[in-house]
Amino acid sequence: MGNSIETKIVHGNSYFEERTGAVSYPIYQCATFRHPGLHETTGYDYSRQNNPTREELEKSIALLEEGKYGFAFSTGMAAIANLFEIFSSGDHIVATDDLYGGSYRLFTTICKNHGIEFTFVDSSDIIEIEKSIKSNTKAIYIETPTNPTMKITDIKKVVKIGKKNNLLTIVDNTFMTPFFQRPLILGADIVVHSGTKYIGGHNDTLAGFVVLSDDKIAEKLRLIQKSTGAVIGPFDSWLILRGLKTLAVRMERQEKNAKYIAEKLGENENIENVYYPGLENHSGYEIAKQQATGFGAMISFTVKTKQQVENILKNVKVVMFAESLGGVESLITYPAVQTHGDVPVELREKLGITETLLRLSVGIENCEDILNDIIQAVKGE
Ligand SMILES: *Cc1c(COP(=O)(O)O)cnc(C)c1O
Repeated sequence: MGNSIETKIVHGNSYFEERTGAVSYPIYQCATFRHPGLHETTGYDYSRQNNPTREELEKSIALLEEGKYGFAFSTGMAAIANLFEIFSSGDHIVATDDLYGGSYRLFTTICKNHGIEFTFVDSSDIIEIEKSIKSNTKAIYIETPTNPTMKITDIKKVVKIGKKNNLLTIVDNTFMTPFFQRPLILGADIVVHSGTKYIGGHNDTLAGFVVLSDDKIAEKLRLIQKSTGAVIGPFDSWLILRGLKTLAVRMERQEKNAKYIAEKLGENENIENVYYPGLENHSGYEIAKQQATGFGAMISFTVKTKQQVENILKNVKVVMFAESLGGVESLITYPAVQTHGDVPVELREKLGITETLLRLSVGIENCEDILNDIIQAVKGE
């Protein structure tokens, strides 16, 4: 009973707090915990190490991703940066070339300075991944769909190559969330998230997660989390727990809106290309359909001129011109300048992150309102 994803999303790890019956898990706004005596503990000593509200969040995300261990961090980047502390100087990672810009920046600056080497490939092409594996390769790191051009990578195929070569498969599942896609079930070893996006869902809190099932890696990561201290605070943990409860209904509505808008945008004379994996003519449509129960609510599209980009960004009134994604408010971003500004121009061009590409995170507003807003804005009248 109660094992469907919708119910698990609402109930989370605890369903209610045992001690008081509180339906909303309490905020333990507390830095330290009293010891009953020498060598005695309540299970909580100091909140950098462990805090009940954070623990509830960690166990809830682990439950939804069907992993044994969840770790919550102050941001998605903190989660990814902490995870990469499991690697050492001399290790090599194969990663998707069309990554979230912040991850690309972390890998090519901070991680690189620590001696970790990366090869970026089009991970939707499995042969490209296989060709890039070297004797010091330790992991394959993918996003699917990619950001912002929405390419789909076959997770099961990547896992197969990973297992064959004794590599970890890591999936950034931010765009899909466990409501639509559960990479650990498909065989991946580690899932990371920006909880700031769909999981929190309200554009009001930063958060990040790592979920995995391997005992040894979990032990390492617990030490890293405790030692670096990039944890999420009790109040922010609660905000994410609160947002999480409506994940299923938000994702359903956002996806429904996105499908409608993607189709209609494709018919508009001012729009050139629409990238949405839920369109049957999208190259990743079949794989997306197999490995996920939905296509998400991120759409990218190109207009015909740079002036039309400026028109849209200046004239939208329902959609907001702002970085980020996944919240109830529809947001539009200009990847070439914003999220992917730190990706070199040549790579951007190769990936199709052109000067006329825009990325739309579809919210829960009325779908006609969102569509009409973009159509009126592009004209720049
Ligand atoms: C936003 C984002 C991140 C980084 O998360 P923050 O919470 O902003 O630090 C990582 N991966 C993806 C796919 C993202 O969209």
